[in-house]
Amino acid sequence: MNRTIFALAGLLMCGLAQAATPWQKITHPVAGSPQSIGAYANGCIIGAEPLPLQSDNYQVMRTDQHRYFGHPDLLAFIGRLSASVHQHGMGTLLIGDMGMAAGGRFSSGHASHQSGLDVDIFLQLPKVRWSSAQLLKPQALDLVAPGGKHVVESLWQPEIGQLIKLAAEDSDVARIFVNPAIKEKLCETAGTDRTWLRKVRPWFAHRAHMHVRLNCPATSLECIDQAPPPPGDGCGAELQSWFEPPKPGAVKPGKKTPPPIPASCQALLDKKLL
Ligand SMILES: [Zn+2]
Repeated sequence: MNRTIFALAGLLMCGLAQAATPWQKITHPVAGSPQSIGAYANGCIIGAEPLPLQSDNYQVMRTDQHRYFGHPDLLAFIGRLSASVHQHGMGTLLIGDMGMAAGGRFSSGHASHQSGLDVDIFLQLPKVRWSSAQLLKPQALDLVAPGGKHVVESLWQPEIGQLIKLAAEDSDVARIFVNPAIKEKLCETAGTDRTWLRKVRPWFAHRAHMHVRLNCPATSLECIDQAPPPPGDGCGAELQSWFEPPKPGAVKPGKKTPPPIPASCQALLDKKLL
């Protein structure tokens, strides 16, 4: 009896893990002119392209996850940023999750990356290329000290600040998420040129990577932009509030039930998974 229950539980768990999201079953981009549809955390994409996996300027991690698809604007941004990093002799960019072939929700990890406009980039710039084994099981470099208030000074390199600045100065970039301790380090070291800091937003986790989010492409009519970040460099009270203990009775952001997916994405799923 017990064994049956265990076997059943095993089957169920296995089924759940694999069928957690139907988007994973779509292995090739949906043909058509590129369209990012819906919101970053509730959308999909038509006409996504795979990031070329061979480049002198960047390396792609965890290719076995097949999360290296995106809107052509995202591929162009990665091309620009990595070329600029290379030109400055700063090292090689390490590219993490982008989106799946048709976008949509991942079975694990973050809720966004759904409309082909988000990319995770490691905050380390190796001068020596990583082996394929290293790329498949990348070693994240935790830049935030225990307690979460400061970066680990021995690990922080000025090039990391330069990398985030280069990305933030790109006009296609809407926001960059980093840990509050990393934002604080940028606030301290930015000097007088501070306009780019506005786009760098403190967020949970993001201790070893930055999450870059692009604006909706002008030709993606069903793409939903976020409101722009508040004016200013974001280095004052808002940032400090991240370091204060939560007020009594404050509700921690929990897992919300995902909203219904946009009709155009549902239609795409219905057609693809018939
Ligand atoms: Zn991300």
